[in-house]
Order: sequence, then structure tokens, then C-alpha cells
Amino acid sequence: MANNKGVLVLFSGPSGVGKDAVLEIVLAKDTSLQKSVSCTTRGIRENEIEGKDYYFITVPEFEKMIENHEVLEYTRYGQNLYGTPKAPIDKWISEGKTVILKIEVEGAGNIKRLYPDSVGIFIMPPSMEVLEQRLRSRGTEDEDDIKKRLEIAQGEIGNSNVYDYLVVNDDLEKTSENVLDILHKLYK
Ligand code: 5GP
Repeated sequence: MANNKGVLVLFSGPSGVGKDAVLEIVLAKDTSLQKSVSCTTRGIRENEIEGKDYYFITVPEFEKMIENHEVLEYTRYGQNLYGTPKAPIDKWISEGKTVILKIEVEGAGNIKRLYPDSVGIFIMPPSMEVLEQRLRSRGTEDEDDIKKRLEIAQGEIGNSNVYDYLVVNDDLEKTSENVLDILHKLYK
């Protein structure tokens, strides 16, 4: 369902919290929602698809995009760069779409300043122990990266009070329903 103005939704949460799984269910259940696809210099994971999960690009390509003002915001997260391509966002918002940006906390803050009407949803882990377990069990990061992600997670959770909605992910289906309820309230 679209409205006149278009809403930007900032969808955040610490690494390993299950954001992608929640988002996948949410997008499948409401096909009118538009997910923004970010650019990253991170390597592709086995289960990821180019152009769906990210545009996987090189550092020089990323730098070129920054130079050409083609990214709305970007950040360094761990060793890698992540950024939101600008042109599609402008187009979707003018078409009245609800656009979901999967983004870390600093980037969300930058977008909020540019688009004060954007709505923030933060997915919270039931506990730090559960988060660490989930991060380790997915087996996509090495020990150094896991430590860095847990450190970043502490900071992100500490800043989560700036979000409009906090949703604890203790059950994937329930969490997805909660997020859909929030999104559907925004249409009204
Ligand atoms: P991951 O490597 O786990 O896919 O993503 C690492 C972090 O980068 C996550 O918190 C994710 O939300 C964030 N992220 C993904 N795309 C963007 C983006 O375009 N901009 C910013 N600022 N963060 C992003």
C-alpha cells in the first residue's frame, strides 16, 4: 500500500540479531514495501545475492560514488564501507512508497537529519549472550570480526533510545508480525 508522501524506514539492530531474517519475512508478506539495496565493499557471503542483498563493489568504485554524490550517506563498519545509493530513494519517495533502509545506527542518525520524518525501528536481542551465540553460530565471520561486531553492538544498543520503535527479537515470526504492525500504522 502506498501513500502520497512516501516514508523512509530506518531498520537497525546489532549484527547477528536476525534483521535480515525478519526483513525477508516482512517483505514477503507485504510486497508493496521497497527495500533499499546498499553498496558495500564487504565480500559476498555464501547465501547472498548481488543486487538483492547488496551491490558488492570495490573500494575505488565506492570512492567514485562518493565523489559523484551518488550516496545519500555512507559509513565505515569494521573494515568495510557501506552506503545508500541516492537516486532510487528519491524516486521511491516521490512515488509514495514505503522504503526500508537496513542501516547501522550512525547512518540512521545521518538519514534522520536529512529526512526528519523518517521512522526508526531497532531490533533488540533478548540478551548479549543470545546475540553472541547467534553471531557465532552463523559462522560467517572470523573471531576478530565477531569481537568487533559485539563491541559495535554494545554501542548501538546504548544509542537505541533515539529510535521510534524497539522490538525484541525472541521469536522470528512474532517479531516480523510486530514490525509489519508498525509499518501498517505508518500508512494511516
Ligand atoms: P553486514 O555486513 O552484517 O551486512 O552489515 C553490517 C552493518 O552495516 C549492519 O548494521 C547494516 O545494517 C549496516 N549497513 C548496511 N548497509 C548500510 C548502508 O547503506 N549504510 C549504513 N550506514 N549502514 C549500512
